[in-house]
Parts: sequence; C-alpha cells; structure tokens
Amino acid sequence: MAADLPLFERLAIIGCGLIGSSIAHGARATGAARQIAIYDASPEARARIAELGLADEVSETAAQAVTGADLVVFATPVRAIGEAARACATALKPGAIVTDVGSVKAAVAEALTEAVPDSVFVVPGHPIAGTEQSGPDAGFAELFHRRWVILTPQAREDDAYLEAVQRLADFWTALGAEVERMDEKHHDLVLAVTSHLPHLIAYNIVGTAADMEEVTRAEVMKYSAGGFRDFTRIAASDPTMWRDIFLTNKDAVLEILGRFTEDLQALSRAIRWGEGDKLYDLFSRTREIRRGVIAAGQESAEPDFGRKRGG
Ligand code: NAP
Repeated sequence: MAADLPLFERLAIIGCGLIGSSIAHGARATGAARQIAIYDASPEARARIAELGLADEVSETAAQAVTGADLVVFATPVRAIGEAARACATALKPGAIVTDVGSVKAAVAEALTEAVPDSVFVVPGHPIAGTEQSGPDAGFAELFHRRWVILTPQAREDDAYLEAVQRLADFWTALGAEVERMDEKHHDLVLAVTSHLPHLIAYNIVGTAADMEEVTRAEVMKYSAGGFRDFTRIAASDPTMWRDIFLTNKDAVLEILGRFTEDLQALSRAIRWGEGDKLYDLFSRTREIRRGVIAAGQESAEPDFGRKRGG
C-alpha cells in the first residue's frame, strides 16, 4: 500500500548536483516532502538552484539547511560526505533520518556514523541511476523511475530504527524507485562488478586510444561507432565523483580487477592459440547476459530512459 504524502515535513539536501537536484525535482513533483531546503558548497550552484526554483529555501550553510529537517540527504561526492555531515552535525534534529546517495557504501556509512550524533537514524543509500551530466541543471524528476535504490541499513533491530528505514524506503518508492536492502560490503562488491570496473575499463580504453600515435585522434573520432563510442560516453563521467569511488572502494575494485585480469589473460591465450571454440562459448554466454539485462528492464537505450545509467 502506498504511504501517505507528504512523508517528510522538511527535506534537506546537502550537495545539489545531478542526484541532489533530481531528488528535489522528484520530491516536489510527487509531494513526498512538504518543504525543501538545499545547501551546496558552490556559490554558483546555490545561485542556480535559486534561479531554477528547486528549493523553498536555498541555505547559506549546511547547518541552516538541516535545522528542523526530518530527512537529510547528503548528495556530495563520496569523499566529501563525512566532512559535510560534520559541518552540520550539531544542528541535526533528534529523530531525523540521515541518508546519502554515495556510490560506495562501507566507507561512507562509517564516515556518516562517526560524524552525526546517536540521536539521529543513519540509513545509507545508493540510487542506481545517473547520467554523464553534473550540476543542478542536470536533474530531472523521472531519473529514479523504475531504477533500483539500495539501502544499506545498520545492524539494528529496534522498532524505531526499522520504522526509519521503512520511511526512507517509502520516500524512494514515492519517487518511482524500487527499493532493496543489502549489506554494505556486499553492495560494494556488486557495484565493483556492475559499475566501477566498467568505468575503469572505459577510462582506460579511451586513455589508451588517446595515447596511440599510430592511430590519429581524427581517426578515433571518425570510426568510433565500432564500439569505442559507447566507451567514450562512460568515460565522460564526472572525474571527481569517479576518483572518489575508486579511492573509497579500493578493496572490492582491486579484488574484481584481479579476476578480470586473469580472465583477460585467458582470452589473450585463446586468441594467440586460435582457440575459436573458447571465444565463441564466451561470446554466446555474454549474449545471454545482455538478454537478461534487457528482460530486467535495465537497458539504458530504452526510449524513455535514454539518459540513464547508474553510478
Ligand atoms: P555532482 O553533479 O558533481 O554534484 C555534487 C555537488 O556537491 C556539487 O555541486 C559540489 O559542489 C557539491 N559539494 C561538494 N562538496 C560539498 C560539501 N562539502 N557540502 C555541500 N556541497 C558539496 O555529483 P552527482 O553526480 O550528483 O553525485 C553526487 C553523489 O551521488 C556522489 O556521491 C555519487 O557517488 C552519487 N551518485 C552519482 C550517480 C551519477 O551517475 N552521477 C549515480 C548514483 C549515485 P562543487 O562542484 O563546488 O564541488
């Protein structure tokens, strides 16, 4: 059964780029929060947030934004979340739900929990939705429609905490998302495979092509439809965001990268020794995975969702 709206009296968003502004649009469009206060560290972003009318209050400090808020969402780059939470910790209302949207969960959960008082409910989260765009202009209300949001609640079983987790889940559901709960370390391993490694490969392949002297830059652009184009889209993602992701999800990324490197060696052997069956078998299996992605409704080239990807 859908929860009654508004779910929150005052929503505070700290950091208002693509994700923060999409939450503001979504909360406004659905009525999930009665009042929206936004703080962003960038004065230019704050001016733009005011021009776009994203908030009822564009706050001058994070502390001002969270004052009286019953839901606080940190939507800064991953490594800024701890600092942003410390900056407003004493202004948080007891009983407030404090969450984030960071693409890495174990490190962020630790930083958040350390920063805020015990009187608030910390429920880390991660919407698996995004685009290559950044900044307050990039957001739109439908970004989360039919996308997964993973919540990584603390290991607490008390009723008050479970109720807080459910209210946050209801908020995301109101914005059109599907909510899943997961252990934070498991989240980081899953995302290392599905998102972080693909980005690393894209950054690497585009970097390799850019460094190749035998192939001119003009040729790289001209013949990019041969597969390279899709990598350039991913490799255009925000450099600060992705630097932070790799530095904070180091263990899981290195673990998956190790396996990937072994598999790549095996592929390289198969090519060297002309083992066509091995190549064919792998390519057939991967084709099935692609069909599974489409069947799960997570195909990024779908007409309505052409701009979407998960970070
Ligand atoms: P974004 O468009 O770059 O916006 C981040 C905003 O936060 C910027 O305006 C930035 O200002 C501001 N900021 C930085 N430090 C701050 C602080 N201490 N206090 C207040 N504001 C601060 O980033 P985004 O793409 O929305 O990503 C935000 C978060 O969502 C990241 O943690 C990311 O991992 C996660 N996420 C992203 C995606 C995606 O595809 N983009 C998907 C899922 C989750 P400055 O520009 O001045 O630094």
